[in-house]
Amino acid sequence: MEELYESALRKFRKAAVIMNLDPNVQKILEHPKRQLIVEFPVVMDNGLVEIFTGYRVQHNVTLGPAKGGIRYHKDVNLDEVKTLAFWMSFKCAVMGLPYGGAKGGIKLDPSKYSIKEIERISRRYFSEISVIIGPDRDIPAPDVNTNSDIMSWYMDTYSMHAGYSVLEVVTGKPIGLGGSEGRTEATGRGVAKVTELALQKRNQKISGSKIAIEGFGNVGQYSALILFKEKNAKIVALSDSKGGIYNSSGFDIEDVINYKKTHGTLSNYPNAENISNDEMKALEVDVFIPAALENSITDETAKKMKAKIIVEGANGPVTDTADEILKQKDILVVPDILANAGGVTVSYFEWVQDLQSFFWKKEQVNTTLEEMMERSFNEIWDIKERYSTDMRTAAYILATQKIAFGIEKRGIYP
Ligand code: GLU
Repeated sequence: MEELYESALRKFRKAAVIMNLDPNVQKILEHPKRQLIVEFPVVMDNGLVEIFTGYRVQHNVTLGPAKGGIRYHKDVNLDEVKTLAFWMSFKCAVMGLPYGGAKGGIKLDPSKYSIKEIERISRRYFSEISVIIGPDRDIPAPDVNTNSDIMSWYMDTYSMHAGYSVLEVVTGKPIGLGGSEGRTEATGRGVAKVTELALQKRNQKISGSKIAIEGFGNVGQYSALILFKEKNAKIVALSDSKGGIYNSSGFDIEDVINYKKTHGTLSNYPNAENISNDEMKALEVDVFIPAALENSITDETAKKMKAKIIVEGANGPVTDTADEILKQKDILVVPDILANAGGVTVSYFEWVQDLQSFFWKKEQVNTTLEEMMERSFNEIWDIKERYSTDMRTAAYILATQKIAFGIEKRGIYP
């Protein structure tokens, strides 16, 4: 059963109906272009061989090379990777990037392996998928549980086979090795920007607004940090996969990050109440930011939610039926394909800088990113008003118009 993919299609189809999408274009967009499954051996530290399963799916490449991250997680499967690739096509189009969409993953729990094992797994996986990878074909990047170290190994593996350094084959690399200023925090910066814009639409200032954030990985941490330090918001609740913490007067996020680094968890953070992820979702806050995994907001949670706005830091955190409940409750949902697009947008800047061998200052990265987030937010808002629909459907309409234009102009080969 392709539950996640089917649920994603149901959201897309709402837009297809409203915009009166050409059924031929709809058919094309409902099917991913390429799905690669690789099973490969890696020698473990104890000398034994273990077999891993990895994926790379390219959903659509009408507007340019495929783009999207690679995740390492015990629950990675083809349905998930395919759906994430589908979302990437629309995310890139929403932002006006000259890319199609892709995603990859390896089914593994990274906490169970040594750094050296992760390096060998990463290199072998990248070598296996390299038949469809390349700076003008498909450009991977970080996602859940992957980081700039892993991107360096990918880049090195590809470069060893090419015989020269191909910096532009992956993004999210370290600064000094083809990486861009501002890439690590880019998704969080984008989330913070659209949170501010969404609050303005509800006639509320971001400064002092109460925010709860689910997930404390790259997206959760940087969203919290930027909202707290630069936007003066009050982050009253935070959580990771083990549970959450609550303090009605707000957290000092730098201190929480340090606590998590030393204790490996948020639980028992001083002067805070330990709460469950479910309790956190029922809090009375201005904004709730899901920044963990898919399907965290189901019908049941949606019914209990009291937030005024939901900003989807994660990909696909709200199920299609929960989406309807939130709409009935007049909760404004800023959809993933806009809200977390800051990461891929700065990935695009990184790729452009690598191709030109000319690097930008941090201010240029951040300002251009914020301008682009605001432009797309406003374009989506206009469509939302014009069609009297929700922001997600409006975002799909915007993205689909752009991809459909490409499909129609290029025609169907042969
Ligand atoms: N993994 C991120 C996402 O889901 C970033 C992808 C990229 O930078 O290519 O959007």
